[in-house]
Amino acid sequence: MRTLNLLNIIKSTKLETWSIIHKVLTTHNYISILAEELFKLYKLKSHKLRIPVMLIAHIDTMREHLMEDYGLNPEDPKVYSKGIIQTSTGLIKTTDNFPLGADDRAGIYTILKLVMTHNIKPKFILISDLEEYGGIGTEEFIFTLKRNPKLTRELKQLIALIQFDRKNWTDAIQYNKTRKIEPDEKLLALARKNGFKKKTGSFSDVALLTPYLQVPHLNLSIGYQHEHTLKERIHEPTLEKHIKSRIIPLLKSLSLEVEP
Ligand SMILES: [Zn+2]
Repeated sequence: MRTLNLLNIIKSTKLETWSIIHKVLTTHNYISILAEELFKLYKLKSHKLRIPVMLIAHIDTMREHLMEDYGLNPEDPKVYSKGIIQTSTGLIKTTDNFPLGADDRAGIYTILKLVMTHNIKPKFILISDLEEYGGIGTEEFIFTLKRNPKLTRELKQLIALIQFDRKNWTDAIQYNKTRKIEPDEKLLALARKNGFKKKTGSFSDVALLTPYLQVPHLNLSIGYQHEHTLKERIHEPTLEKHIKSRIIPLLKSLSLEVEP
């Protein structure tokens, strides 16, 4: 495994990224409980500091999808990583004709970083594929859960579903418009207390999960800008600060929500 850093995760192909995720999580007390082509679910083995949430990020990128559209092979590491650079100030961007794909590799990186470096242990971690095509991997995850009532019951006991799949640094989104999800004011208040502001958004995987599991969600900023365009970029040092100053305090405050 290459060292865990944001640039490496952004430059990795999807297959390489699946393998990094598996290696990091299984060496940090997680077991793979569902491993399908379009989603993977990991569960923490017993751990006294576990946080009763599911963290979610998606593995597919518009970089990969657009490369496929242009007849390139995004699974070729040379093709996929070509043109991705980091400047001396820590800004990661692309110099070729495809979006960077920090949407949502920044989300994947953050989950791994929390587990590996910061000893933050969410009870479940879901990595989805094909979010950019409307949440196809998550639809399949829900289909699988419908045939697994025991696991569904366990997931329904979580206190929040937290997705890292949003531009900027301080946005907190609860999807509610079309899918008739009631806003969870308590969770929004916790997000506000930790530096986030309520915003609206169109879609991410959690918009599908909450109606099925009846567990409230947030989709939080993870720092990329101009996603889906050639101007897509992310400033790595600011992401490290964001993880420490907003994400970790919020997750810790969620663990305090539960009776011992
Ligand atoms: Zn995304």
